[in-house]
Amino acid sequence: MPHPRVLYWFRTDLRVHDSPALHAALALEPQCLYPVWCWDPHYVREARVGPNRWQFLIQCQRDLSASLTRLNPAQRLLVLREAPGTLLPKLFKEWAITHLVFEKDTDSYAAQRDAEIVKLAQEADVQVITRTGRTLWDPAAIIKENGGKATMSLTSFMKASKNLGDPPKPLPEPSSIPDPGDLSLSFLNTVPPTVIDLNKLHRQKHDDESYSALAGPNSDFAPPTLEELGIPESTATTPHQGGETVALTQLAKLLEDSKFIATFEKPKTAPTAFEPAATTLLSPHLHFGSLSVRRFLHDVQRVTSAYKGSKSQPPTNLPGQLYFRDMYFAAQHAVGPAFSHTVGNPVVRYIPWHLPSTMPPSPTAPYTIDSPRAHAWFLRWAWGVTGFPFVDALMRQLRQEGWIHHLGRHMVACFLTRGGAYVDWERGAEVFEELLLDHEPACNLGNWMWLSCTAFFAQYYRCYSPVAFGKKWDPHGAFVRRYVPELRGFADKWIYEPHLAPEAEQRKAGCFIRDLEDGGLLPLKTQAAGQVYYPSPMFDFAERRDFCLAQMKKAYQVGLHGDDPRVRDGTAKAE
Ligand code: FAD
Repeated sequence: MPHPRVLYWFRTDLRVHDSPALHAALALEPQCLYPVWCWDPHYVREARVGPNRWQFLIQCQRDLSASLTRLNPAQRLLVLREAPGTLLPKLFKEWAITHLVFEKDTDSYAAQRDAEIVKLAQEADVQVITRTGRTLWDPAAIIKENGGKATMSLTSFMKASKNLGDPPKPLPEPSSIPDPGDLSLSFLNTVPPTVIDLNKLHRQKHDDESYSALAGPNSDFAPPTLEELGIPESTATTPHQGGETVALTQLAKLLEDSKFIATFEKPKTAPTAFEPAATTLLSPHLHFGSLSVRRFLHDVQRVTSAYKGSKSQPPTNLPGQLYFRDMYFAAQHAVGPAFSHTVGNPVVRYIPWHLPSTMPPSPTAPYTIDSPRAHAWFLRWAWGVTGFPFVDALMRQLRQEGWIHHLGRHMVACFLTRGGAYVDWERGAEVFEELLLDHEPACNLGNWMWLSCTAFFAQYYRCYSPVAFGKKWDPHGAFVRRYVPELRGFADKWIYEPHLAPEAEQRKAGCFIRDLEDGGLLPLKTQAAGQVYYPSPMFDFAERRDFCLAQMKKAYQVGLHGDDPRVRDGTAKAE
């Protein structure tokens, strides 16, 4: 057989360290290796991706490209702006590809896309090789061990993973990679405009032709700039940097503190800590694969076993956190595409939220008298102007920086759903999808189900107070002052409830607390020029908590799940 001509397809594995799929590609001893990234219309158009995540992704691509050049000066990442379904068959032909290699992705959309690509490769007589590397264990193997059922608890996940043995040890970085072959492409002659108008693409959701026309292949194979994507650079405000080099440096620094690594207990880490955060902040790197999850686990275990003092245990220790990640990947794999919503989802409870999901079972049934009011609450939550300083600080940190601590996510997710606004978890998950750097469909959806007590967790009577919870971690309100700067001047006594401060205190603080008009849809009625304002709370929290508890209790008694026919046809009543 002639030497293989390998197309290595990079997706969520933007690294050269511990990459089982890249190792499999190199084990073929290829005559040439084409390291390709191609823009996927789903990511560009269907997924909600904010400027911070675009920037992080581009940084990952640039860093990967530099690493490939380090391993062979003739190499770089070949970034092509076309959908894999149309692009890859053309590349197979033009570059006479014999093998397509990629890291397995069990995300619902990706699995469907990859199945189509495998078919196209077979039609082109191209052999496909895939390897697991995105998770510690192959989600399909976990589900098989779990009797075909979704892993709805860490206990069931750990039992299943135990039967599979330890995850494989991380692989070393390759010392070199082969040259690419001839890079000419006949279809590159029709080079489209370089600026992809994302807004236009979003409007043209279901028109694949227009995607190809706007985002066709670029001739220089370089990762784009934000400007080329039509995103003003000033809108990417995160301080967090993407790329394998940053990820490995960040991990190495964390590993120097063996006590932190070996005694880490998630519930004891502060959601209000910033610069530095109280947890590892490695999640965006795990999402883009700029850090290998096996390498992370292995290094943590190595440092922990050398540590002399007493050590923390799963589920609260660092390995436990990674097991949660794998647990959600496996659960999503078992449920399939329905994992992203309530309708048709067998593991999720049906709750008749005020503001239902954007995919209601029927256009009329779920709309309630409370919907307009809840819509205003939802928007105020999303933009961090609820009038609850701790919630607003977290939501503004999320919008500015693309990351918030896990317990911060708990706070805002509980508040939006079963512990305040009574808005559908799917609406919250959509906002997180746009704003998070680490947005991982399985983890985001699974955690939203957990926090809304619709799946994974059922103790709906345990609610987070937006005042007491913040105060517990940060009595002086440094976190609130940082992210809600208009409240900086308030004394500690008022920082979590500035609306209770007398008018004289508000004047002294340089900020007046006023009601937003019409439930928050309109700005303040009277605003003096140059005066700083902050809204009063959008509802009475105690009243809302009692309402939510009563509603949740009723819905639990009725006990409908997303796959119930009454949920599907929109006739479900939860009382
Ligand atoms: P660390 O505490 O340092 O943990 C190490 C790693 O373990 C993380 O990087 C992450 O990969 C994994 N991990 C930790 N906790 C969880 C968890 N509960 N579920 C899954 N993985 C976990 N995590 C995502 O990676 N992507 C998401 O889109 C996402 N959405 C979430 C939405 C909600 C409503 C909630 C409550 C949590 C969500 N999480 C998500 C889980 C968790 O909040 C983040 O993984 C964590 O805060 C990332 O910070 P870290 O890297 O410092 O975590």
